[in-house]
Amino acid sequence: MRAMVFHRPGEKLALEIVPDPEPAPNQLLIRVEACGVCRTDLHIVDGDLKRPKPALIPGHEIVGRVIRAGSGVIGFAPGTRVGVPWLGFTCGHCDYCRGQRENLCDEARFTGYNMDGGYAEFCIADSRYCFPLDEAAAAAGLAPLLCAGLIGYRALRLAGNGVRIGIYGFGAAAHLIAQVAVFEARTVYAFTRPGDAKAQTMARKLGCQWASGSDDRPPELLDAAIIFAPVGGLVPVALSAVHKGGIVVCAGIHMSTIPAFEYDLLWGERVVCSVANLTRQDATEFLALARTIPVVAQTTIFPLHGANEALDGLRNGNITGAAVLVP
Ligand SMILES: [Zn+2]
Ligand SMILES: [Zn+2]
Repeated sequence: MRAMVFHRPGEKLALEIVPDPEPAPNQLLIRVEACGVCRTDLHIVDGDLKRPKPALIPGHEIVGRVIRAGSGVIGFAPGTRVGVPWLGFTCGHCDYCRGQRENLCDEARFTGYNMDGGYAEFCIADSRYCFPLDEAAAAAGLAPLLCAGLIGYRALRLAGNGVRIGIYGFGAAAHLIAQVAVFEARTVYAFTRPGDAKAQTMARKLGCQWASGSDDRPPELLDAAIIFAPVGGLVPVALSAVHKGGIVVCAGIHMSTIPAFEYDLLWGERVVCSVANLTRQDATEFLALARTIPVVAQTTIFPLHGANEALDGLRNGNITGAAVLVP
């Protein structure tokens, strides 16, 4: 099969012919219909995330059709459409797994990081971490739901039930979760890169009350802020925009160094927390909700061999909505 393979930071992904994967027990062999390009992939390619699988096929927002199943798989008949998310395996017995926090599992393995992902024509995935998806929808539109949507959903839940929500960094995750927040009758304030009129226009179109650069102040104090941009400097900025008791949720897997700030910004029972990975419960809840609302992803589609171009676009802030590879 054709695949885009990562060898080392600083090098482009290479288009290679590699052996078709074989499903082991509990695994599905899947023909990839679409695979989203996530900022996490960029962090892997840029070397921010350490020790990826050697000769890695990235990609963890996979939409595909089951070709066949390994032994022990229940459900998932051939032809079924499935989604494969970032969480690819958990141990099931550590304190986190037993405490409904499998997202923090000590032995977790992640799709497109510790194991091969979806920048390819085919992939394998453990069926216990796959989800049935809408059979009729366009595959490219579903792909971003599987990480940008899911992590966004977990971040929104951790942000609490406050009405006034600020979102810093208006890319793939933000444009999906803003739709959920608006559906929940919250007031959403979108903060983009300063001067990014395109992202601000999209935010307003999606129902955000207000959209401006991250160097601007919201017109009123926020109940909570979610930071999707990998920019540590936004933590004190967001803290200064939430009122007493407010929460700042850092939703990325990697962030530049957070600068020192006055204790006054945290005082008043303000909270800063991070979101790490997802649980299968998050996926079940979010995918059902996304279908009900419905959450619509804006996508920029690239062919499989266009993965490097898609990653560059993400790095430079030139992608509006979500980038998706369609092999
Ligand atoms: Zn575990
Ligand atoms: Zn991701």
